[in-house]
Amino acid sequence: MLKYKAVRGTQDVLPDKMPLWRHLEETVRRRMKLYNYQEIATPTFERTELFIHSTGEGTEIVEKQMYTFLDKGERSLTLRPEGTPPVVRTYIQHNMGMKKSPQKLFYIGPMYRQESPQAGRLRQFHQFGAEAIGSIDPALDAETISLFLDICDDLGLKGLCLQLGSIGCPRCRPTYRQKLLGFFADKYDLLCADCKQRYQRNPLRILDCKDPTCRRITDEAPSMLDYLCDECAQHFRQLRVHLDALGIGYQVNRRLVRGLDYYTKTVFEVVSAQLGAQDALGGGGRYDGLVEELGGKPTPAVGFAAGIERILLAMEKGGCSYPEPLQPEVYVASIGEKAKQLAVRLLRELRTRGVSADTDYLDRSLKAQMRAANSLKAKYTVIIGQEELSRGKASVRNMRSSHQDEVEIENLCDYLVEVLTKAEG
Ligand SMILES: [Zn+2]
Ligand SMILES: [Zn+2]
Repeated sequence: MLKYKAVRGTQDVLPDKMPLWRHLEETVRRRMKLYNYQEIATPTFERTELFIHSTGEGTEIVEKQMYTFLDKGERSLTLRPEGTPPVVRTYIQHNMGMKKSPQKLFYIGPMYRQESPQAGRLRQFHQFGAEAIGSIDPALDAETISLFLDICDDLGLKGLCLQLGSIGCPRCRPTYRQKLLGFFADKYDLLCADCKQRYQRNPLRILDCKDPTCRRITDEAPSMLDYLCDECAQHFRQLRVHLDALGIGYQVNRRLVRGLDYYTKTVFEVVSAQLGAQDALGGGGRYDGLVEELGGKPTPAVGFAAGIERILLAMEKGGCSYPEPLQPEVYVASIGEKAKQLAVRLLRELRTRGVSADTDYLDRSLKAQMRAANSLKAKYTVIIGQEELSRGKASVRNMRSSHQDEVEIENLCDYLVEVLTKAEG
C-alpha cells in the first residue's frame, strides 16, 4: 500500500505530458494576443460570498461543489470554482473600467469543484477563459466565440459544434419564468428532489438538470427564445449576423441555460464529437448585470471559459499532434576522475552556449552510459576515455548515423555547437 497518494479528483502531470500542456498554454497566449486580450492572474481563493452572489445560490456549483473552509480568523473562504467572479471582482477593485473600455482580459489557472471524478472531470481542474468587460456590442460576443473556436482550431480539434442560445434579461425573463412554472406545475411530482427545490427558487435551473427523467420532461418545455424582449431579440439577431459573416456555423439550442446565475442574453457552449454533449469543452455568454451586482457601476460584459483537461482529452482522442518532450542534445560520457572533471566543465560550456546537455551521475560503466545516452535520445554523445584523453582528444558520436569523430578537447564545444547548428539549418 502506498502511504500517500494524490487526493481523489486531483492529478499529477508527469514530464511526458507537460509538453502537451505547454503547447496548449502557448497556443492560448498566442491567440489571445492576436485578439488583444491581456493576461490577468487572481488568487486561487476568495471570500465565499463572492461566489454566492455571482455564481448563484441555487446553482449546482454553489450548493454542492465548492471547497469552502474557515481560516484561522474564522473567515469563510472558497477555492475558486470558476474564473469569472474573481476577474470581475478585480475589475471593480482596481477601477479597471476607468483605464480602458472595454477591458479584454484572459486567464489560465486551476479551479476547484467537488464533483464525482471521471474522465475529463477533476476536482482540481484547469481552465482558460476570456472576459471582455465594458460593451454591449454583439460583435464582441461574436469575437469571444470566434476566439475560442480559433484556439480549438489551432490545437487541431475537429468535429466541434457551437451551441447558441439567449437567456434574456431581467426585463423579459420574469414572463418566461411564469410560463415555465406553469409548464412544470402538473409535472412537479415527477421532478427529482433537487428540481422540486429549483421549482421554487429558480425554475430555469430545471432545464440544466442531468437527471434522465427531468431531462425527458424538459424536452417539451417552452424556450426562452420565444419570450425575448425586443432588445434581447435584436441582440441575438445581430450576433447571428456577425457569426454568419465570420463563417461560423452554430446550432440554436432552445434549452441552453448554462449552470451559472449571472448570464444575460447570449449563452453558448462548444461541444466535441469526441467527448459528447454532456461534456462541453467550454462555454460562456454575456453577463451584463454582474459588475453592478458585485458593487461596480452598471457595465455589460461577455466571456467564456474552457476546460483544459477536457480539451486535452479531446485532443488525444482526436489524434491531434503535439511536441515531443524535450531531450538533451548532447550526452557526455566519461571514464575516470580526470575525464569526469573535463566532462563537468564541458557541460557548463555547452549550457552557456545554449546547448542542452547531461552526463552520468551514477559512476556507471561506459556501456551503461551509452545506453543512458540512447534512452535520452541525445543527438550527440561525447566520449571522454582515458586513452584518448592522454592524446588531448575525445570522441563525438552522432547517435543517429553512428558516425564517430575524434575532436581536440579544446575544440569540443565549438565543434558541437557547429554540428548542432548545421543539423537545425
Ligand atoms: Zn430582454
Ligand atoms: Zn432534476
